[in-house]
Amino acid sequence: MTQAEQRPLPVPQPESDFYWEKCREHELWLRRCNDCQRAYFYPRDICPHCFSRNVTWVKASGRGTLFTYAIVHRPPTPAFRDRVPYVVAIVELEEGPKMPTNLVGIEPDPAKIRVGMPVVVDFEDVSPTISLPVFRPANSA
Ligand SMILES: [Zn+2]
Repeated sequence: MTQAEQRPLPVPQPESDFYWEKCREHELWLRRCNDCQRAYFYPRDICPHCFSRNVTWVKASGRGTLFTYAIVHRPPTPAFRDRVPYVVAIVELEEGPKMPTNLVGIEPDPAKIRVGMPVVVDFEDVSPTISLPVFRPANSA
């Protein structure tokens, strides 16, 4: 497999090490601000709503709804050649944040996918250190 054919993977940063460790344990964790009480994604040390550094980690329920999606037919790089068609999605988590992800466990067909449908988190173990959070229809488990 050449470099170009390898699927690009996230590189954990110190701010997100905890997040990726929990993903490896198949748990989804979010940052929440102790000052304005809002949860947010992606994980970072400063609240994007009020710029407070008084933030903490909270475990997400893993439940949400499909906010929007797109079906990818043309692979963005050769690494995705065997994966098309697939669904990129924004999921609105129960805790509030919207999270970019993939929708799995459903045919990549606009006749089947419904904005607002309930979804639950699942994890794809893509390397020894990275498990990617993806979402599937809540009733397909
Ligand atoms: Zn805040």
